[in-house]
Amino acid sequence: MKSIILIAPPAAGKGTQSDMLVEKYGFAHISTGDMLRNEALHNESIKSKMENGELIDDDTVFALLEKRLHEEDCKEGFILDGFPRTVNQAIKYDSIVDSLGVTSNVVIYLDVDRDTVIKRIVGRVSCPNCGKVYNELIDGLKPKVLGKCDDCGIDLSKRSDDNPDTFGNRYDQYLKNTTPLIDYYLGKGILYKVDSDRGKDEIFESIEEIVGGLSD
Ligand code: AMP
Repeated sequence: MKSIILIAPPAAGKGTQSDMLVEKYGFAHISTGDMLRNEALHNESIKSKMENGELIDDDTVFALLEKRLHEEDCKEGFILDGFPRTVNQAIKYDSIVDSLGVTSNVVIYLDVDRDTVIKRIVGRVSCPNCGKVYNELIDGLKPKVLGKCDDCGIDLSKRSDDNPDTFGNRYDQYLKNTTPLIDYYLGKGILYKVDSDRGKDEIFESIEEIVGGLSD
């Protein structure tokens, strides 16, 4: 079973690359952000923290994650998108990774600068039904019909935390809490860096080279 962790700043294309990995390899796509957005529908405290770009507590995140990792579709492998967000979460994940049956554990770091992600965030929209992510300003990421999901045909929506103010907080959180993970995983020898200031297909080619070489 393969565990693929994607580390990247907000709006760097983790969701898009995850979708492409799911399509090619059949892995499960586990986005802690998506799971938490679902929780936020009936939990005010989670909702307001997310709208401010703050991190959610580890107990909540792990309760959701552990349940999800035991589902049937994770048997071949899974992509962790948005998790871990802190070194603490990474240490805690390392303590359960063997018991999950993970045989290949890799971390892919999508390296992209702040100006690029700000541009990406402006046009980002997603399908409220299937979660597919589009960008209405970037060729290759646009939906076939403006404002509609290619697969579901329903109206695309903008995330409430994709605005300049919240983005600033989310980016600061990333710098403070998540970038230390790069050294943490470099030290373990399982980090691969991918230049992500490129088009989605070029980024994916680099990711395929890494994932295609993993043992089962
Ligand atoms: P994302 O969709 O990954 O950009 O996450 C959206 C928001 O969900 C973040 O700004 C956090 O508030 C929360 N979140 C997602 N993943 C985590 C995590 N692993 N730990 C804590 N909070 C998280």
